[in-house]
Amino acid sequence: MKEIKDKSFEIFISAEALAEQITAVAEQLNREYAGKNPVFVSILNGSFIFTADLLRKITIPCEISFIKVASYHAMQSTGQVKNLIGLNEELAGRHVVILEDIVDTGITMEGILNALEVRNPASVRMAVLLFKAEALQKKISPDYVCFRIPNRFVVGYGLDYDGYGRNLPDLYVLKEN
Ligand code: 5GP
Repeated sequence: MKEIKDKSFEIFISAEALAEQITAVAEQLNREYAGKNPVFVSILNGSFIFTADLLRKITIPCEISFIKVASYHAMQSTGQVKNLIGLNEELAGRHVVILEDIVDTGITMEGILNALEVRNPASVRMAVLLFKAEALQKKISPDYVCFRIPNRFVVGYGLDYDGYGRNLPDLYVLKEN
């Protein structure tokens, strides 16, 4: 059990299980992007630990860029993608792999895809740590998924509850009463 602010969370996916799946996805990316010089676009803040762990398992030449989106506050999606900050790289003709911590409604990912596609990349795929398929409201289909999870609120391993909990090595889920 873990208390964060006013809520109780319980362990959901261990650091070891996270590492195992992330390694498997990295190996797949190493095979599928060999010779393609991909550019990874990591979505801050939530993806920073996922990105750091995944990238250290990538063995092919690649670049990494970070962008920031603000669309989620505390435990409720605001349903709107706000500013995309930091997208400075030239993406025309490049093979882009978006790295995102979690796809929930898909609203954020749809906004990011739209923002990237106008830059004429050669291809865009999505690698996500967590996918809440039941919550999906958009026609988004993540290409690489580490874990499909039920529609419950999770925290840890980069994901926060109201700013807290990002530093936890394991993933926790909000305790149901
Ligand atoms: P979407 O736009 O797909 O509804 O939400 C995507 C964003 O909402 C994620 O990047 C993440 O920041 C946040 N989010 C969605 N579900 C959760 C959750 O269960 N826990 C946390 N901490 N953030 C979430």
